[in-house]
Amino acid sequence: QPINLVALCTTILNQLQKVYKREINLVEDGSTPFIKGNELKIKQVIIIFLDNAIKYSTDKIDVFVESNQGMAVLRIKDYGIGIREEELENIFERFYRVDKARSRETGGTGLGLSIAKNIVKLHNGEIKIQSKENVGTEIIISFPLAKI
Ligand code: ATP
Repeated sequence: QPINLVALCTTILNQLQKVYKREINLVEDGSTPFIKGNELKIKQVIIIFLDNAIKYSTDKIDVFVESNQGMAVLRIKDYGIGIREEELENIFERFYRVDKARSRETGGTGLGLSIAKNIVKLHNGEIKIQSKENVGTEIIISFPLAKI
């Protein structure tokens, strides 16, 4: 059955905030978007992006859940180290990690984003990234709205 994106994000945010002791704000536009698909896989996608936001920033994180033109839109915004423009096209490749030196201390395989991209694609969704070095990163994920 359809997945309530606000409810799913609320659950995930509460869990991650406890574990990482990081401020993660949920901002919704009141539209309560529902999407269709595999809830566990969608959850995995959200965790992958939030996990990166937590790893590559130290400040608060803002999560927006909105509806726009037939799509449910999830935006995950951090105010961390960001990604250089010339790296942006590479980061969805399997095992790719920006700058081994800066990544070493945070650990990881570089698989997260390629997994997330595949899951979103399977759900007819899309991912956009806006990032600026030393300013932060915004991940914009959209899925078709479920008709209910
Ligand atoms: P793992 O998948 O095991 O968590 P990872 O975080 O290195 O490892 P990806 O999630 O695929 O791998 O991310 C690829 C690279 O993109 C990261 O190594 C990091 O350099 C960069 N990156 C991803 N998200 C962010 C972010 N929010 N801010 C800055 N850099 C990021």
